[in-house]
Amino acid sequence: MEIVLLVYFAVVGVVIGSFLNVCIYRIPKEENIAYPPSHCGNCGKRLKVFDLVPVFSWLFLKGKCRYCRSKISPRYAIVELLTGLTFALLYNKFGLSVDLLASAFLMSILIAVFFIDIDHKIIPDELVVTGLAAGAIIIIYNIFFPMQIYRGGQWWDPIVGMIVGSGTLLVIGLIGMIIYKTDEAMGGGDIKIFAPIGIFLGWKMTLLALLLSVVLAGLISFILIILKVKDRRSTIPFGPFIVMGTFITYLYGWDILEFYISTLVLRG
Ligand SMILES: [Zn+2]
Repeated sequence: MEIVLLVYFAVVGVVIGSFLNVCIYRIPKEENIAYPPSHCGNCGKRLKVFDLVPVFSWLFLKGKCRYCRSKISPRYAIVELLTGLTFALLYNKFGLSVDLLASAFLMSILIAVFFIDIDHKIIPDELVVTGLAAGAIIIIYNIFFPMQIYRGGQWWDPIVGMIVGSGTLLVIGLIGMIIYKTDEAMGGGDIKIFAPIGIFLGWKMTLLALLLSVVLAGLISFILIILKVKDRRSTIPFGPFIVMGTFITYLYGWDILEFYISTLVLRG
């Protein structure tokens, strides 16, 4: 039964990933995500049901439009597979629970954030607001039915998470502005997206996600500069690191915190 559900949630993830492709493409252009229906970006031909089967259509058509033969980016299939994998791992972590629903919802928003921030260096307010709306429901639900992610914390844990998450980045941003005398030290989108993340994770896990995001950003930027993919002066968006930090926190956050407390704090 476990394996059936695992495959089921992977497939659900792939289908949601297909919808995220539409969001990633249209939201930054301020286009409606429901209308017009999917069409080829090159010839404009409206796609039929059999052109829209996630992953398989792309493989079957060998990455080309059925009508004009123009190349379709493999990224569409990658986003779908990545979302499927994300959902499967979250099911493996949380089982059949409200935590699974909540984490899958947040990660769906964040997968869109990941690619939109890479493409356009922005995090759209629509995604932040969607996260906050779901976050409000979670805050209320958690008062009556405590969720796994907060590990028996207080009912206000998610609210403090929101303040701590966005607040910390806001302070870092302000300090950066003063030191570097620029107004672009920390993107406003990064500060805003940590509000819903803070609610979904609670304050302890939010602090860990922040730390992981910063460490990952430093490490990966360093590697990209060494490999000469980026140079020292190019700006690398922070959003993708926030997304990775949050996902690692979902999967291993409490294990990391407990390991830290047991090995470093107690022995020190
Ligand atoms: Zn076409």
